[in-house]
Parts: sequence; structure tokens; C-alpha cells
Amino acid sequence: MRFVIIGGGPAGHTAATHAARLGAEVTLVERDLLGGAAHLLDCIPSKAMIATGAAMALTRRAGGMGLEHLDAVLDFQAVRARNDAIVGRLNASVRTLLESQGVRLLHGTGRMKGPHQVVVDTADEVVELEADAVLVATGSRPRVPPWAEVDGVRVLTTRDAYPPPEVPEHLAVIGSGVTGVEFVHMFASFGSRVSLVVSRQQVLPGKDPDVAAALEADFLARGVTLVKGARAEGIDRTEDGVTVRCDDGRRIAASHALLAIGSVPNSEGLGLDAAGVETDRGFVPVNHHCQSNVGHVYAAGDVSGKLPLSSVASMQGRKIAEHVMGLHTLSHRHLAYDKAASAIFTEPEIADVGLAEVDAFADGRKIRVTKVPFAASARALIDGDARGFVKIVSDPATGVVLGGSIVGRSASELISVIALAVTAGLRVTDIVESLMVHPSLAEALADAAE
Ligand SMILES: Cc1cc2nc3c(=O)[nH]c(=O)nc-3n(C[C@H](O)[C@H](O)[C@H](O)COP(=O)(O)OP(=O)(O)OC[C@H]3O[C@@H](n4cnc5c(N)ncnc54)[C@H](O)[C@@H]3O)c2cc1C
Repeated sequence: MRFVIIGGGPAGHTAATHAARLGAEVTLVERDLLGGAAHLLDCIPSKAMIATGAAMALTRRAGGMGLEHLDAVLDFQAVRARNDAIVGRLNASVRTLLESQGVRLLHGTGRMKGPHQVVVDTADEVVELEADAVLVATGSRPRVPPWAEVDGVRVLTTRDAYPPPEVPEHLAVIGSGVTGVEFVHMFASFGSRVSLVVSRQQVLPGKDPDVAAALEADFLARGVTLVKGARAEGIDRTEDGVTVRCDDGRRIAASHALLAIGSVPNSEGLGLDAAGVETDRGFVPVNHHCQSNVGHVYAAGDVSGKLPLSSVASMQGRKIAEHVMGLHTLSHRHLAYDKAASAIFTEPEIADVGLAEVDAFADGRKIRVTKVPFAASARALIDGDARGFVKIVSDPATGVVLGGSIVGRSASELISVIALAVTAGLRVTDIVESLMVHPSLAEALADAAE
């Protein structure tokens, strides 16, 4: 089985490793660094900077823990060096893993020349590859609307912000989805004044209103200005910054503007037409095996238009490797996008999985919802941060866990327990009767499941 993969992000490199392990002859084509935008430009550097912000916040809170006069001084050069070191290590470990499985790595830009042919432009030569199966895993890039001119200095996309040349004095963030609120949190932690343009009446549109309310309360307490019910429609450069124009006439004068309004798929120039692969607004539509309309051409990750999460991309890659090698018939479980856990790395963190209370109500589905605040958790009090809550959604008839949300410290870790319960069809009693560590934040999960 000759398997050619274009794109070395989570989707591509996971598919490559797994398929090679299963016996395929794999070639992975990557034009930039292995690990993809996920490692280089999106998940990892953003989380690394949020971790720096969290360390700063900790020094501010330390007074309440009996430590006086701690002061943190931000050094953006050191922050950048730390980011680069993390990305470098991850890149090296992905390379080592791929090489250890015998994956052939080609550094260059790949495109399809026909249904079974991939052409790679490397620095030295053009390589033509024959493939029995092809995976398109080319990711996405930030969406830039026609009314904004990104200069990487005052008008930024998320990819210009790791870190920007200077700490923005006043950052206007446009877009209040997951990415937007993470950048609000990040720069508020660094001491910037932040204004957030929220097109609806709640941040995180579509999320549980309880969760969004908790985040809004935190933002307001930290001095973030929420400009609600406004759509940005222009950004003007001024002598000392920018002015964001909103459709209702409001103007936000700031030192910098950051666009966080979604992404567009990287599918142009890939020769998909030549291979007969259909696209829809640039995405490659796929079935539950991640096959495109051309059966041996797969797509995964952001370019497939499914949930744009690194974790989902990796799992798609894994499932594709099994399908390519014909293993999907043996105990194969389809990827359940509706059971993917996700997190928002704000402070407090927000995480959820499975069925949301709002969606159950919208569908008229009977559910049992139980919720406990971290204010009652010994560990949260010890850690000096008792914000937030755990909410568990279950089936009232069977007790099977259907979903949950967590707002609070380490929510991104704690949600794994509920994710496992949702995937494995566990009942609330399974969580209640698990002997959790004491004192731990996880005890709140058992209380919420009660
Ligand atoms: C700011 C931000 C933060 C995020 N944080 C998280 C998070 O915390 N957790 C999470 O799960 N998800 C997060 N995401 C989403 C996550 O980054 C994406 O879902 C993930 O990167 C998708 O992986 P991928 O494999 O599809 O593509 P990518 O990671 O984008 O990798 C695609 C690769 O393909 C390469 N490529 C493209 N075209 C070609 C070509 N023609 N030839 C050769 N190579 C090519 C690119 O160079 C790139 O390396 C975040 C996104 C953003 C924007």
C-alpha cells in the first residue's frame, strides 16, 4: 500500500505514523515544519503564552496565599524564545517518531497531478509519486475579511501575536469565539487593556449560557470592555494605532487590532480538480471514513471542514490509517464528532463534551442536569481559586452520562473523566463510586454526578 500524505500537522503525521506501523509504505510531504500549524502557529504557541500569563496572574494572587511583594516583569523576548524552544522540541519529537516508523519525509509543496499521482516541489527537484491512497491534510489559515488590511504590526491575525513586537497598550479583539476569547485572556493577563467586539449578545455564541456568563463576569472583573451586538466592518490605521469601525456606528480607538474570525481551508493549488476531488467553499467534504468523493483520496483535519480541533484531526488521521489498511471492519468505531471534548484556555478554563443542556432543551429531550460549584471544593480553596462549577448532563431513565461542562481551574484536564464516561457509555454512578483522590478538584465531578 503506497500511501502519500500532504501536510504534516496532527492529521497528517498521526495518519503517517499509524499507517506505517500497520505496514503501509508512507510518504509524508510537508512544506514547513512537522507538527503543522497546530504546533508552529496555533495551539501550542497560544497555550505557551497563556501559561506565561497564568504565571503572572499567580504572582498577583500570591498575596492571598501568604506570599507578599511578588512582582512579575514581562520579557517578550524571553517569551518568544520559550515558544521557539517548545515548538522546536515538538518538531523534533514528531520527526523522530515518523523516522522510527520508516516514514519517508519530503520537504516541499505537494499537489495532485491525477487521481493516483502526487507531485512535490522540493528545493532541489520535482518528485513524482504514485499512490494507492492519498490524504489531503493541509490545514487552514486565519480568515482575513476584505475590510481589513493585516500589517503584522498594528493589525494582526492570531499568527502575528506570538508575541507581537510590543505589549499592546490597548488591544481590540474582533471575534468572540474560542480563539478570540483566548487572546483576550492572554493579553489581559499581560496587562494590556482589551476591548472585545462581540457580534451577538453573549461571548462564545452557541455555548452554554451559564458558561459564557461565567467568562463574561471574569472579563468584566478584569476590566475588559465588551462591545456587544456590534459587527466590525473596517479598521483604519491612525497615527498612533487603529480605529475599529462597527456597523452600528460605534468606533473603538485602540493601539492594536487582532482578527479572530475563523479560518479558511488550505486547498487552492492542490490539484484537487486533476484528481476529480470535489470541494465545497474550499473544504473537502468527507464521509464517515474521511473519504472524499474519490474513494482513495481522503481528507482530514481543518481542510475536511469538520470540527477544527487538533485532537479531532489526529483521531481522523488514525481512523484513516486503519481504513487505508483495510482494518476498519474489525471492531472499528466511527469517529463521533459529537463526543469530542474541547477546552477554552481562559481563566477560569472552560471545557465541555457531549450533549449540552441548551441543545437538549432545543430538541425537547429529557435530561437530568446536576451542577456543583468549586466553592465547595477543599482543593479549590487550597489552591486559592474556587471560581466555576461542574455540570453533568445525564439520561434520567438510565443514568448514562451524556455530556458535561466545567468552568474552573484545570477544566481542560478534568473534562477527560466526563469524556471517557460519554464515549464508554458510563453511568453517573460509575463516577460517583470512583474513589477519587482527596483533596482534588476531581472530587467535584463525583459530587456533580450524585
Ligand atoms: C489560535 C489557535 C489556537 C488553537 N488552539 C487549539 C487547541 O488548544 N486545541 C485544539 O485541539 N485545537 C486548537 N486549534 C485548532 C488546531 O490548530 C487545528 O484544528 C489543527 O491545526 C488542524 O490540524 P491539521 O492537521 O488539519 O492542519 P495543520 O496543523 O494546519 O497542518 C497542516 C500542514 O499542512 C502543510 N501544508 C499545507 N499545504 C501544503 C502543501 N501543498 N504541501 C505540503 N504541505 C502543506 C502546512 O504547512 C501545515 O504544516 C487552534 C487554532 C487556532 C487558530
